[in-house]
Amino acid sequence: MKIPWLSKARISKTASSLMADYDSRMGFSVTPPIPVEDIIERHLGLTLSFDDLEEKLGMADVLGATYVRSRRIVVNERLLEERYEGRLVFTFAHEVGHWVLHRAYAEEAARQGRASEMIVCRAGCAKEPIEWQADYFAACLLIPEAAVIRAFDAAYGTDALVLHNAQQTLGRPGLGCIEPCAENWPFLAAMVCEIGGFTNVSKQAMIIRLQDLGLLVNASGAPLGWRKSDAQLHPANTVSASRPF
Ligand SMILES: [Zn+2]
Repeated sequence: MKIPWLSKARISKTASSLMADYDSRMGFSVTPPIPVEDIIERHLGLTLSFDDLEEKLGMADVLGATYVRSRRIVVNERLLEERYEGRLVFTFAHEVGHWVLHRAYAEEAARQGRASEMIVCRAGCAKEPIEWQADYFAACLLIPEAAVIRAFDAAYGTDALVLHNAQQTLGRPGLGCIEPCAENWPFLAAMVCEIGGFTNVSKQAMIIRLQDLGLLVNASGAPLGWRKSDAQLHPANTVSASRPF
């Protein structure tokens, strides 16, 4: 399905608009953790369900699907079995991204008989523009910029945190016992999650968001992501290493 290029700023603004509408409905400013299931079901009026999508669609590595005409979001039931909330909630928010950003294109493609009404999300397709846009939307929705800046400032101060290798680190006031080095990224991210109330967000999604907003700079040369030992503890992460779960 063909979709137009969208800037990060445009996607972020679209996610903010959705939250502003949801805030109006609720009558107060909603803060993290962002209740994505309620946004899907009560605010957008969509049906959220689980199914064995790989069996149903005859495809491997399916995470979820959005059915635009029947107003349904279906998530692979395998994600429930993994009991890994960050991954599940991110998939919910990703499908909301498809609903908000892409449903008009899916409807049009279905009307012209060029494609089905369904947008299918697979673990190995994260780099496709439509999937990247939905991932970025999900990050903006679950980790709103203003809220994460407040939490980061409370944790580490207003200057960007620059990560070096442990040997180069001289320490920095306000970091407590956490050395600002690459190998400590899970602890650095966890602190922002805790202070900001991002209880349904994975540390990996948070560290990506912090870098995207320029709050954290990785100058170590080492990748920030799941290490082999993490993957062994959480095998689900190996099937979608490029996704920010
Ligand atoms: Zn998708």
